[in-house]
Amino acid sequence: MQDRPLELDGDTHARLQRLVVRVRQDLALISHPSMEWLKPRTASDGSQALDVLIVGAEQSGLATAFGLKRWRVDNVRVIDKAPRGLEGPWRTYARMRTLRSPKDYTGPDLDIPSLTYQSWHVAKYGQQHWNDLHLIPRENWADYLLWMRDTTEIPVQNEVALNSIEPEGEMLKAQLLHTNGQAETVFARKIVLATGQDSTGVWWMPPEIAALPRHQRAHAADDIDFAELRDKDVAIVGAGASAFDNAAEALEANARSVTLLCRRETPQVIQPYRWLTFRGFLAHLGDLDDAWRWRFMRHMLGLREGFPQETLDRCTRHDNFKIVSGASLKEINQSSNGLEIETTKGNYTADFVISGTGMENDFSARPELGRFAGNIATWSDCYQPPDDERHERLGRFPYLNPDFAFVEEVPGQTPWISNTHLFSISSTMSFGPSGSSINAMTTVVPKLVSSLTKGLFRDDVEEHWESLRAYDVPQAKLDDPNE
Ligand SMILES: Cc1cc2nc3c(=O)[nH]c(=O)nc-3n(C[C@H](O)[C@H](O)[C@H](O)COP(=O)(O)OP(=O)(O)OC[C@H]3O[C@@H](n4cnc5c(N)ncnc54)[C@H](O)[C@@H]3O)c2cc1C
Repeated sequence: MQDRPLELDGDTHARLQRLVVRVRQDLALISHPSMEWLKPRTASDGSQALDVLIVGAEQSGLATAFGLKRWRVDNVRVIDKAPRGLEGPWRTYARMRTLRSPKDYTGPDLDIPSLTYQSWHVAKYGQQHWNDLHLIPRENWADYLLWMRDTTEIPVQNEVALNSIEPEGEMLKAQLLHTNGQAETVFARKIVLATGQDSTGVWWMPPEIAALPRHQRAHAADDIDFAELRDKDVAIVGAGASAFDNAAEALEANARSVTLLCRRETPQVIQPYRWLTFRGFLAHLGDLDDAWRWRFMRHMLGLREGFPQETLDRCTRHDNFKIVSGASLKEINQSSNGLEIETTKGNYTADFVISGTGMENDFSARPELGRFAGNIATWSDCYQPPDDERHERLGRFPYLNPDFAFVEEVPGQTPWISNTHLFSISSTMSFGPSGSSINAMTTVVPKLVSSLTKGLFRDDVEEHWESLRAYDVPQAKLDDPNE
């Protein structure tokens, strides 16, 4: 198994350059229909408005921008608050060595063979290395995304955060803040929020953990200094894939012991995302009625994500690792031995707690949603499931329009949110895996792109009608019948 990058050979640069040429040739061959169709719009301050502002330059934002480009929606800007290369989890809080997805899943390439991860990997490391590869090293995935972004010439601006959205006439007015402190206002006809796992809320910790001083606790998505955990007793609360990744990091950093407290009777090893990776589900779950959509997604998200064998092995190879199942957290108290963690399966001591407990929806916690957070319809506003299918946490997910736009809880209060489209894990309750999952991208990004272009086309319909009536380009030259 070769899950670590190899030394590059001298031909790598040339092979990658040839691949870039191939991608561009492939895209040129399928560029039909290539005619421009969107007219520039002037905003109230005289500037040219964007057709689409995409927020988030990680895989969901990049694939959306690429899809729009293929549809000749070129007046697009992509921003990300992170520096280039540090977008998303891959080089920040992701602590697994490899992706969890099988290596042959395609995604941001949107079905262009030369743009796939595999093509990039073969160009970079050779065919044999690809053949021998088991899973994709996560840094390689991050490098591939940068290559894909550069090769398709997606216009990204890093270190720019979206701080608020409000209406101005028929446009959306977005307040941006650059890392260097510069404020900027841009206008856009549509905004896509590809803002990641916590796009509609906050990373969540049980109150018992949140109440601890910072030097004794962290969320799995925090920047954790694992070297500090050397010779310490560490407790991990939660048993999802990220919880195990954090346990492994602590063990590899020579923690004295790592105890993983799992609320369920057995940790979740089934990965429901594998079951649903077929075109029918990915494409059409969103076409079903609320009852079916809720039933499927409640089941999937209620199970949470299973983890692969490698993740488990990385922990269990250490004798000082222990999983305690059926252990719900009751209380945490300070003691002379450190933290006394009381659970339904007994008491445990630890010096440090890592909470692998996911995110919680809280629209008002996100500055970019602030102006309309109170009027975003949730699933519990729109659908009442049968008693045996209730789920309070999942009911707090946004209930999205078929075009991924937010829906108003009270119609008429913020009608402009119909031009703000969400493409993140929080779209999952409405449509199944969305931008957030590699497995869904080739199917779902085209749906999003089609929805965005549908809105842009529909809003311009009168201009298209006038343009057709004014169209006077002859295809042939007739002889003058009077001669
Ligand atoms: C640890 C971990 C491992 C995963 N492994 C896999 C896997 O193997 N396979 C799989 O299919 N999925 C996996 N996922 C799920 C998913 O694929 C990833 O979370 C992926 O990164 C989602 O991409 P994204 O573009 O939707 O969001 P993100 O990668 O989270 O990117 C969102 C971007 O938006 C930017 N942003 C947010 N708010 C603003 C703002 N207001 N202004 C400007 N920029 C903003 C952020 O800086 C960030 O770069 C994993 C997730 C995690 C957390």
